[in-house]
Amino acid sequence: MSTFSSFIPCYDFSPTVNSTYLKEILPLMVRHNIAANPINYSIWYDYVAGNNPQLNKVVDDLINEAKPFDSNTSLNLYKKHICNASIESFEKINGQIQKVIEQATSSINDTYNKAEESNDSFQKKSVELENLSEATAIKAVLKEIIKETQALAFTSQEMQTKLNDANKEMEQLRLELTEVRQVAVTDGLTGLLNRRAFDQTLSEIIKEDNVGSTCLSMIDIDHFKRVNDSYGHTVGDNVIKYVASLMTKFAEKNHRVARYGGEELAIIMPNTSKEKAIEISENIRNSMEKSRLKRKDNNQPLDTITLSIGITEMQSGDDAESFIIRADSALYKAKESGRNKVVLAPVS
Ligand code: GH3
Ligand code: MG
Ligand code: MG
Repeated sequence: MSTFSSFIPCYDFSPTVNSTYLKEILPLMVRHNIAANPINYSIWYDYVAGNNPQLNKVVDDLINEAKPFDSNTSLNLYKKHICNASIESFEKINGQIQKVIEQATSSINDTYNKAEESNDSFQKKSVELENLSEATAIKAVLKEIIKETQALAFTSQEMQTKLNDANKEMEQLRLELTEVRQVAVTDGLTGLLNRRAFDQTLSEIIKEDNVGSTCLSMIDIDHFKRVNDSYGHTVGDNVIKYVASLMTKFAEKNHRVARYGGEELAIIMPNTSKEKAIEISENIRNSMEKSRLKRKDNNQPLDTITLSIGITEMQSGDDAESFIIRADSALYKAKESGRNKVVLAPVS
């Protein structure tokens, strides 16, 4: 069986190859008036590298029909042809599991059929033995019985080996499945739940009808654009990671900490009162304000970076959208009233 490789797009790391691609990708993007953001770049990277024939066909069709590459088209191409690779991986592993099960089942059936045949033959031979009196004839039948018993033992040993192999293969596939599942729900930068996992968790919690006992905390880094502008994107990324670590530190075990998008993060807090949600959010806000962050490259201190946080408690009739909107408007109020604040949404 072929070895499964993880679904994370596997790119060539050679600088020469990548610089050749770059020289092809950028003129193409310029010619078709495409913004060079990471989503678009990964689409055109795959197009030039020829990694994904289906994607190339769709892009070629768009070019031939002179259709615009607006942000919607890009996002759809990305979702369908690049991030959906994870679904393909699940399907691939599923297919492999199916095969292992089929092989093991067929081996068990073979052994069962052979055992049935031997059983019939043993019964016949037992009748034969009862009717025999001559030692040589009895000896000959016994010899056949021994031969057949040995063949049966061999078949069952063979089945045992096949079942052991299948067991090992299943264990390997189980590990790969766990890894794929983990990657599919994890944000690559922070290690928190990603947006997809956040949406899924929230809708599951809403289905469980935890009205009044679930809180949502939305956290946004204040003036983050300035952080990027002053110190660069890498420092910005490290600040996001640091905020994520504070959230993980203060959140409780049953809470779900997620990166909602960009520099916006969230904590879903099941079975948590609004007072507790405020306390946890205050701890995170306060800790961030007090942190004396330094650049990793030159140890220079960064200016104080603060957080604005909006909290809401789930109300009856809430769906994911209304729940998020209320937390977001509390966050907006926190920004509006001077930032570096925790605001609880009023309930109507
Ligand atoms: P505000 O206090 O109103 O939230 O101001 P802001 O500057 O934080 O908000 P704005 O929405 O204007 O800017 C957010 C910036 O966050 C813009 C975007 O470039 C940056 N950003 C989003 N995602 C990432 C990321 O993954 N890494 C880095 N370094 N920057 C990011
Ligand atoms: Mg911000
Ligand atoms: Mg923001």
